[in-house]
Amino acid sequence: MLASHSSLATDEAHALSLDREDPLRHTRQLFCIPSVGAIAQDASRPDAMRPAVYLCGNSLGLMPAQTRRAISDDLEAWARMGVEGHFHAKHPWLPAHEPLRGPMSRLVGAGEHEVVAMNSLTVNLHLMMASFYRPTKERYKIVIEDAAFPSDSYAVESQANLHGFASGDAVVRLRPREGEQTLRTQDVIDTIGRHGASVALVMLGGVNYLSGQLMDMPTITKAGHAAGAVVGWDLAHAAGNVELRLHDWNADFACWCSYKYLNSGPGAVAGCFVHERHGRNLARFGERDFLPRLAGWWGNDPETRFAMGPAFVPVDRADAWSMSNPPILALTPVRVSLEIFDKVGMAALRQKSRRLTDYLHGLIDAIPGSGGEAGEKGEGGAIRVLTPRAFEERGCQFSLAVLERGREFHQALTRAGVACDFREPNVVRVAPAPLYNTFHDCWRFAGILRDHLAKTRP
Ligand SMILES: *Cc1c(COP(=O)(O)O)cnc(C)c1O
Repeated sequence: MLASHSSLATDEAHALSLDREDPLRHTRQLFCIPSVGAIAQDASRPDAMRPAVYLCGNSLGLMPAQTRRAISDDLEAWARMGVEGHFHAKHPWLPAHEPLRGPMSRLVGAGEHEVVAMNSLTVNLHLMMASFYRPTKERYKIVIEDAAFPSDSYAVESQANLHGFASGDAVVRLRPREGEQTLRTQDVIDTIGRHGASVALVMLGGVNYLSGQLMDMPTITKAGHAAGAVVGWDLAHAAGNVELRLHDWNADFACWCSYKYLNSGPGAVAGCFVHERHGRNLARFGERDFLPRLAGWWGNDPETRFAMGPAFVPVDRADAWSMSNPPILALTPVRVSLEIFDKVGMAALRQKSRRLTDYLHGLIDAIPGSGGEAGEKGEGGAIRVLTPRAFEERGCQFSLAVLERGREFHQALTRAGVACDFREPNVVRVAPAPLYNTFHDCWRFAGILRDHLAKTRP
């Protein structure tokens, strides 16, 4: 590691040559890349039309060019044939979620019968908890990260409240050790063990939104099950970012949104995984004896859905948790995007992600004042990378704590046409997405960081 960093070439020509040699260089052309002028909100500057450095795929992924055409096909079918579009649109609406199963199952490492596209992320977390958080007086606690995404905190607290438990008692929050930024797997396991038979549900982010830490999902899932708890994963920052094996890891359920790394547009339809041991055996129970859930007609067996009877007959797959017919205009972009992921494959994407992020990390280390190898040793430097260094413990996101004038740094980035986000009090998140970011993007970002640190150094 050290050797490769100290020998790292930091010049622009090297960045460009890495791009030329990149086996995935062609996928960038599938996306619409915003311009510097649009990101900096200044259309009159001389470089306004230059492509921006878009490092914000962790928040809103870019639009595949094909998406516009695909949505316009739906609008055209609606205009031309009205209700007949359910059967005769180019991609008929009635079974619109079905062709998504294949690519979605490969994306998260599941069987096709274990995944379904429906609703949005927080809604799905609640629907999953309606079935899988069934607290008793003895077993009622929910384990989450202290730095969970706020929506997840609200969701679990309100679920505990809904069942009559005080959230302060029912919600167990995992905190890093004093002076550390990320959770240790052993500490997570110990906490689950300590609360033992009182834990009903362990529900963590697969990749933490703030630190970028990738959790050891198989190990934690095992630990939760050993305590007798249900284990669900929020994969908002993991789906399309890291390789997943949800079926083999034996997770009970998982939920993710499609607008971050999955490039399916703002508010796109989300995804959900229910392990087959919960979904498959439904028919074996009597009509009234399946897992309780909040049911709707789209979860009914399609064979009898339009018989319009009053009794719910859940279909023998994750679809049994879907309630409504899906919003087609928000689902179509998911289909387009998943086709891209399916063609490239997560293994190849993850390889590129490693090259891209190791390169970026090396550039950051080489900046004086970064706290890296070229920085003031022992003094910590003016920025700190909060994300674990080891590739096995992170996805493509780096969270940088900018210790001085963090907001100013973020503004400088925006002015320079770099899209990334800022989280209070001082965290700048940058995520080179392997489908459309380049080594040159990383190089441009590092240059702005170098300039900022040069200005803020005493
Ligand atoms: C982005 C994100 C959400 C957003 O929830 P929506 O219901 O899609 O608005 C929730 N949880 C996590 C962990 C996220 O990263």
